Amino acid sequence: MRILLVEDDRLLGDGIRAGLQQAGFAVDWAQDGRAAELALAGEAYDAVVLDLGLPRLSGMEVLARARAARNAVPVLILTARDTVPDRIAGLDAGADDYLVKPFDLGELQARLRALIRRGQRQAEPLLRHGALQLDPAARRLSWEGRPVELSAREFAVLHALLANAGRVLSKAQLEEKLYGWGEEIESNAIEVFVHHLRRKLAPELIRTVRGVGYMIRKETA
Ligand code: CA
Repeated sequence: MRILLVEDDRLLGDGIRAGLQQAGFAVDWAQDGRAAELALAGEAYDAVVLDLGLPRLSGMEVLARARAARNAVPVLILTARDTVPDRIAGLDAGADDYLVKPFDLGELQARLRALIRRGQRQAEPLLRHGALQLDPAARRLSWEGRPVELSAREFAVLHALLANAGRVLSKAQLEEKLYGWGEEIESNAIEVFVHHLRRKLAPELIRTVRGVGYMIRKETA
């Protein structure tokens, strides 16, 4: 899952980015409002963590412009402004959630997972598919009740495919979900992760749609 972090405080931004990466998110970090606006126009994110007091363009303005451009990405406002009118203004401007600094990193991670679930219209926190059960919060996977060890990237590929079951994800779309800005991507990385997943789980679980990408079939109830 790919997050846009918008925060001008370097120390705080660095800490949040590290914390989110540790929880398995790919993170792009924009340090001013214009950079955030550009990022939102050019990339598809699963969620945005938005500070309000920003150089060049305020967080509220970034949010208003994104919504005016019909960008429906889930947005969590993260700010020291904690008066009730501030919160009302933020939510009314199109934010989906609000967290006041100082905050707990674990709570931020959990709120992002909840926002992403809601964005995907998924009520259940666990993703299930046949004998497979993926827990995004605990970062655990089990197959027929037994735990399966996956690397962070393998887990992220499987998570993206399960969350989009029935839809084909291209290699580029998967790379977007796995890597933040400045992270080097090996040209055949996705193929390698898919190969490992098939070996650890079942060869037929992930289908290759030639020339398009990969998919996991939607389960029919
Ligand atoms: Ca700020």
